[in-house]
Amino acid sequence: MNAPPVVTFLGTCSGTEPMPGRHHTSFTLDYGGRLYWFDAGECCSYTAHLAGLDLPATEAVFISHTHMDHVGGLPNLLWTLRKLTTCTAAARERLAGRTIGIHLPDLAVYEGMLALLRGTEGGFRTNFTLEPRLVADGVIYEAHGVRVQALHNFHLGMEPPFLSFSFRIEAGGHAIAYSGDVKSIADFAPFHDHCDLLLMETGHHKVEDVCGYLKESGARFGKLVFTHHGRAILDDPAGELAKAQAILGDKVLVADDGLVLALG
Ligand SMILES: [Zn+2]
Repeated sequence: MNAPPVVTFLGTCSGTEPMPGRHHTSFTLDYGGRLYWFDAGECCSYTAHLAGLDLPATEAVFISHTHMDHVGGLPNLLWTLRKLTTCTAAARERLAGRTIGIHLPDLAVYEGMLALLRGTEGGFRTNFTLEPRLVADGVIYEAHGVRVQALHNFHLGMEPPFLSFSFRIEAGGHAIAYSGDVKSIADFAPFHDHCDLLLMETGHHKVEDVCGYLKESGARFGKLVFTHHGRAILDDPAGELAKAQAILGDKVLVADDGLVLALG
C-alpha cells in the first residue's frame, strides 16, 4: 500500500516583482514513488532539489496557464532533469527510456521553450522523452493511482479558445482542487465538493470574498489553503488569515514556500 499523498509548496507568490522569502507559484504531489508538478514558477526545481524531493521520479508536469509566474521555472526544471542524468549514474539509469508528460494549454509556448533548451549545452539531447500534451476539459491524466481532471476557467477570457485551467487531482482516496488563476472562485465550483485540500489563489481575490462564497455554497472540503498570494497576504499574512478564520474557522491556511502537507 502506498504512503499518503504529500503536497509540497515550492512557490506561493503571484506574479509580482521579486518578494523576499517567496517564489512564483508551484507545488508538487508525491505519490506512489512518483513526482507530479503543478505549475512551475521561477526556480521550482532548485527549491525542490534542495528540499530533498526526488526529481528523477518526475512523472508529469501540469501547467494551468502560460503566464510567467506559472511557467518561468519550467525550462529550468527540464534542464535540471537532464543535468541530473549527466551528473549521476543513478539519475541516468532511472530516467533512461522514460516519458514525461508536459501538460499545458498552449503548445506554441512549449515549442518556444524547447528552442531555448536546444540552444543549451548538448543540444538538449536527453535519454528520456518529453511529451507535450494539450490541456483540455476532462480527465487529462490517469495512471499509477493518480487522476487529474482539467476544467477551463475565465482568467484569460470568457470565450474559447480557453487558455487557463483549474485542476482536480485525486490520489490514494484523497482529492485536491487547485484553482490555477481564476476570474472567480465560482469558475471551478464543480471541483470544490468532497476535496481534502482546496488550493485557492489570492492574486486576484480578497480572502473574505472567497471565504464568504465557500461558506454560502455549502461545499464540503477539508482545508482551504491560500496560495499564489496577492498584495493583501504578502503585506499582512497574519491579518488576512485572521479575517479568513473569522468566517471559516481553523480550516483555513496561508501557504508559505516550503509548506509540506501529507493527506491522510
Ligand atoms: Zn498567476
